Amino acid sequence: MSKKRVVYEGKAKILYEGPEPGTLIQYFKDDATAFNAQKKAVLDGKGVLNNRISEFMMTRLGAVGIPTHFIRRLNMREQLIKKVDIIPLEVVVRNIAAGTLSKRLGIEEGQVLPRPMVEFYYKDDALGDPLVTEEHIAAFGWAGPQEYDDLISLSLRVNDFMSGLFAAVGIRLVDFKLEFGRYFEGDSDVPRILLADEISPDSCRLWDFETGEKLDKDRFRRDLGGVTEAYAEVARRLGIIKESGETDNVVSFTGGK
Ligand code: 5GP
Repeated sequence: MSKKRVVYEGKAKILYEGPEPGTLIQYFKDDATAFNAQKKAVLDGKGVLNNRISEFMMTRLGAVGIPTHFIRRLNMREQLIKKVDIIPLEVVVRNIAAGTLSKRLGIEEGQVLPRPMVEFYYKDDALGDPLVTEEHIAAFGWAGPQEYDDLISLSLRVNDFMSGLFAAVGIRLVDFKLEFGRYFEGDSDVPRILLADEISPDSCRLWDFETGEKLDKDRFRRDLGGVTEAYAEVARRLGIIKESGETDNVVSFTGGK
């Protein structure tokens, strides 16, 4: 483990001071939590897989014009990122009813939604990340009106792109959570909004198109087992790791730094 100065430690990641001003190192832990950290486990190799999957997604999104915090991957568990001021909102995009949407509104899980839905949750562990409206966001100044519009349009662009990417490898993108931050370029006092945090099976619902099998953190939430194996399957299908049996498979992966 690194001896760098810890800037922030979350449930699944640690942020260290970066090598240059304006940068951080994002370290992916194997820790898994659910239900506001009431359920905890260590899943060998999860951090290594999420580091690679998030690198893949951020790089692809960057290439189609979505500004992200990602600079480059440093090793098996760490990536160099731009330091941003995190906007205290989780943006959830949904294509298919599941999770809290089904629970809250009684919509049957698996029902295709009439159009992608964007929801905002206020990032506050003590409150359990409550669902909030545009009214709350504006009144409490969590994001300005232009930022609010940008968060929606960026999230929908991410959804379009990632839905296609996953569909091409037989995976249905059910829903996912994004976080964004404000980045001050050079001396500018006008921030740019960057996609931040991570995109991985920890923060997405991913169902196999044919079998409906869950390939995401719901395997942990619902005690279905095979969590890391499912994440590895996602990485394999995306071409990030090789087919099992080859040298660079998940077994050697999970032993990484
Ligand atoms: P739900 O609101 O149905 O629990 O979650 C919707 C989507 O956002 C799911 O893909 C879920 O994994 C993701 N999500 C919601 N809250 C969090 C969170 O606090 N952390 C992570 N990693 N993902 C979240």
